[in-house]
Amino acid sequence: MRAVVTGGAGFIGSHLCERLIREGHDVVCVDNYVTSSPDNVEHLRDDRHFRLDERDVTEGLEVPGHVDAVFHLASPASPVDYLRLPLETLGAGSAGTWNALDLAAAKGARFLLASTSESYGDPQVHPQPESYWGSVNPVGPRSVYDEAKRFGEALTVAYRRHCGVDAKIVRIFNTFGPRMRADDGRAIPTFVGQALCGEPITVSGDGSQTRSLCYVDDLVDGLLRMLASDHGGPVNLGNPHEVSIFELAEWIRKLTRTTSEITLIPRPKDDPERRRPDITLARELLDWEPTTPVEQGLRDIITDFRHRLAARDVTERRNPALPSPPTASARS
Ligand code: NAD
Ligand code: UDP
Repeated sequence: MRAVVTGGAGFIGSHLCERLIREGHDVVCVDNYVTSSPDNVEHLRDDRHFRLDERDVTEGLEVPGHVDAVFHLASPASPVDYLRLPLETLGAGSAGTWNALDLAAAKGARFLLASTSESYGDPQVHPQPESYWGSVNPVGPRSVYDEAKRFGEALTVAYRRHCGVDAKIVRIFNTFGPRMRADDGRAIPTFVGQALCGEPITVSGDGSQTRSLCYVDDLVDGLLRMLASDHGGPVNLGNPHEVSIFELAEWIRKLTRTTSEITLIPRPKDDPERRRPDITLARELLDWEPTTPVEQGLRDIITDFRHRLAARDVTERRNPALPSPPTASARS
């Protein structure tokens, strides 16, 4: 198979490229590095089955030769990133998805959209099945991401229904693992960076909000199974293992054996209260479910951060989207 991976130098994208190469496929990785670095795929650079194409997907895709699959992952993905890149995020979800679908149509390739649990917004149904239409604020701060992804889903379905493209949608729930950026503002890399540097761990609100955490290798496996299937989706991919953010902070404190205390900071606006995927469909259609225990995944990202810290690679850990710690009471 010859696959195009947009956003291939990013966190999930780089793991996907690696897995595709390992399985003997050819990969064209397209990225403009707006939220990543070519360092993530440096180890693949010399492989003759791997090609790196620095390009903004909103400006069109040019891939000579045949293509069997297009994985569209290019988009800022963390709240900190999409809040500082609102127009770029809307562009990647709309024009970027359009260009990626056009490429798939022109090449007769399969197409997979990396959509998100944010399509459900701040969900009123728990856990979230694919049949739930969501609760999204179309003009809130997160709308640049949520609505771009929802538009991308509508576009993907239109290409499937009207243009004969074998186009698929997965909705990815919180995924973590090695190569996450220490300054991307997401809870796990932020907490791990803070814990390893002995800084206060910044839990927002009272930490009772929940997320469900999937290890990146499991997610990549789900992406490949979805591509190989005959189903269009949307299909949820995530780990139903749900934890509160306070529990997550405590867990990372324990695993890192840090002396860092937990400090409470204000919740960002429209921060979803709880999130857990219903993965019945993924189990039935793809025979997929996560197999990596969350604790093992946390140990892996902690090890990765330790190495990068030692190499002075982890530099900026402050989270610009969240207000700086106020007089909040430390809870631990
Ligand atoms: P990431 O920021 O590490 O990766 C995104 C990649 O897309 C980066 O390499 C970035 O440079 C690239 N990119 C962004 N805009 C681009 C453009 N216009 N042209 C070319 N490249 C561009 O984030 P990630 O966590 O790896 O997310 C990958 C995909 O998975 C995203 O589409 C995201 O919405 C989706 N997703 C991720 C999660 C998660 O928990 N990690 C959850 C839901 C959905
Ligand atoms: N969060 C937090 N402290 C941080 C970063 C995030 O308490 O330093 C919280 C955030 O408010 C949210 C949860 O952790 O309630 C998950 O945030 P993340 O950005 O990882 O993912 P998303 O909100 O996109 O699910």
